[in-house]
Amino acid sequence: MKLVRIIILYGMLGLSLMLFWNAFLRNPCRDVVQYDIGIFDERFNMSREDFIHQIQLAESSWEDAAEQEFFEYVPGSDFKVNLIWSDEQERLYKGNDLEQTLGTQQGSIESLQNRYQSAVNRYERSKKEYEQKLAQYEDDVTYWNSQGGAPEEEYQALQDDAVSLENKAGEVKTLLAQVNRIAEENNQKVERYNDNVAVYNNLFATGHEFDAGNTDRTEINVYSYDGIDELHTLLVHEFGHVLGLDHVNDPASVMYYLLNEQNQKGVLTDTDIAALQSVCNLSS
Ligand SMILES: [Zn+2]
Repeated sequence: MKLVRIIILYGMLGLSLMLFWNAFLRNPCRDVVQYDIGIFDERFNMSREDFIHQIQLAESSWEDAAEQEFFEYVPGSDFKVNLIWSDEQERLYKGNDLEQTLGTQQGSIESLQNRYQSAVNRYERSKKEYEQKLAQYEDDVTYWNSQGGAPEEEYQALQDDAVSLENKAGEVKTLLAQVNRIAEENNQKVERYNDNVAVYNNLFATGHEFDAGNTDRTEINVYSYDGIDELHTLLVHEFGHVLGLDHVNDPASVMYYLLNEQNQKGVLTDTDIAALQSVCNLSS
């Protein structure tokens, strides 16, 4: 149901700044980059410890591939990893809440539709019984009329049948009212459900690209992620930029410019590793 949510994971820094960094500052392939947490927005519902843990998992992707240290979490370091709240994250959370609401509403509609079906069955059974009794009664009346009238005993029995028929008709009417009540309730629920579907689709109506994170290689900014895998991919990608890697053309690679189904687990591909080896002059 969720419409396209295209994500540009990672803005690139201005080229001049990158050259400046490369020319005058450390070479991150050689010197360990120490980082700290800078801005940390708690609306992401993640603890600081978990965020640090995710960053460490991301850095180790590159470090395991190269079998050397690149990054280290050292409180007080100038290099900051920032977790910054964004409209996109707001939209995402609203969408997730709505998904839950829609799930609940759907369950409630399904159980109501079961109740509706049972009510219809009860009504139809009762109506059938009524019609059979009525037919029998009419046959009896016709018979006795053709005989020029019923004897006292039969007449009384027919009176009793008439009363019983009236009661049965009342029961049928009550059951029908129940069916209609449930149908009405169902319609209201379906209407509310559809309203929420419209709101939900509207949230993601335009396939939009946005910056989920970026780096100028003096800091990493994280703006939005949907689940831990996306955060991981994003962090690995930004650390790749800090190491000096550019984007690659392989959509399955972490260093591809978009987060997509192929790279969403953040696993480095041969292309990513070849880029690392090339940029950091590692022997393959
Ligand atoms: Zn990028």
